[in-house]
Amino acid sequence: MNLPRIEQAEVRGKRVLVRVDYNVPYDENWEVADATRIVESLPTIQYLLERKAKVILMSHRGGAEAFRVRGDKFYRERTKISHRRFKYWSEKSVMEYVGKKLQELIQLPVVTLEDCIGEEVQRVVGAMREGEIVLLENLRFYGEEEENDEGFARELAQLAEIYVNDAFSASHRPHASLIGVPRFLPHYAGFSMLKELQALEKLLMGEERPFCLLMGGAKISDKIAVMENLLDKVDSICIGGALSYTFFKAQGWEVGKSKVEAERIETCQRLLEKAKEQKLSFFLPEDVVAATKFSPDASSEVVAAQAIPANQMAMDIGPKTGALYSKILKESRRLFWNGPMGVFEMPNFAQGTLAILGALKDYQGYAVIGGGESAQAARRYGVDNEALYIATGGGASLQFLSGKPLPGIEALLQ
Ligand code: ADP
Ligand code: MG
Repeated sequence: MNLPRIEQAEVRGKRVLVRVDYNVPYDENWEVADATRIVESLPTIQYLLERKAKVILMSHRGGAEAFRVRGDKFYRERTKISHRRFKYWSEKSVMEYVGKKLQELIQLPVVTLEDCIGEEVQRVVGAMREGEIVLLENLRFYGEEEENDEGFARELAQLAEIYVNDAFSASHRPHASLIGVPRFLPHYAGFSMLKELQALEKLLMGEERPFCLLMGGAKISDKIAVMENLLDKVDSICIGGALSYTFFKAQGWEVGKSKVEAERIETCQRLLEKAKEQKLSFFLPEDVVAATKFSPDASSEVVAAQAIPANQMAMDIGPKTGALYSKILKESRRLFWNGPMGVFEMPNFAQGTLAILGALKDYQGYAVIGGGESAQAARRYGVDNEALYIATGGGASLQFLSGKPLPGIEALLQ
């Protein structure tokens, strides 16, 4: 894909508005718990600073933090949130802890503002000097961000002379900061965006075979489009995680109390048929770890996939499946892995995911790991292998691999 690149922009002395994805998790002390996305944004920021640009960063924060009082309209629209919580968030600058972390990583002062538009923001930004960094407040404090409101986009655009999108992981969202702002400013892709796209393109365009797709995680609905789109590109598909049980149902197997998406059973049936037509190797777990309850202290046993007891739920792939999938992976030359094999957050159901991570330690082909939880598992258990690319964007990489355009990227091409 031929995106306009940041190196093509004349940035010296200019105000550059960079859309980053700082939707990063934090802990009880308001410290950043995983700074990967901040680290990924540093090359773009440093590049701009070296060229004496004025760097204005903007990002969304999802979840409860997005609900802070912003006038009556916003309050009325979002009253689902309880008053107590609402008040709590309203006392806190949401981006403050991100700004602190960025400052620590880049070793330069970062000014974190309490708003992302308005007079005060304009004043501060207008007074910026070359080489300074300003971080705007959560874009989603404004409903207008998600509505892609034109006036809101224009107000953001007025803060700068150049726009850079460095937030691949947010670019599947048709929001103001991603598709509205670039309509008003010369626009370019930042280094993290370019790197992420390149990794996915290398995977898709590569010619090395076999090409394997390993899918696990929570919901079929999130993943089905990827499987459908890659059906005629891959040699094998291995299924794990909670996805498996809807496929089990599609074959008429009983699954006890395991997670099933009833309205997707037919979709799974169709997919299984198509896979058969394509003569593709399609693997479902042979054995699973079944537990009495969804809990880290549940008693559990390994059972055959077709023999999940009625009062139990499957929580992980079993050891036979782990060994089989590991073998298939090791023999593949290209791999996309999304979604953990089991409820890996609980140590007693992490074995399946660990088996895969073990198999990837000395992987010889080219693998991309995409998805929030999968990437977290890979990082937590320290798979560090040059053959692996851990993507920062979950939903965005899935959409890309589904063959659907990403609005944020389309906007850069216009
Ligand atoms: P990713 O973020 O990598 O795309 P998902 O969001 O699809 O992955 O799914 C991750 C979640 O799926 C994990 O939190 C995990 O606990 C859950 N999960 C995996 N296997 C099962 C299972 N057998 N039953 C219930 N939940 C599961
Ligand atoms: Mg997830």
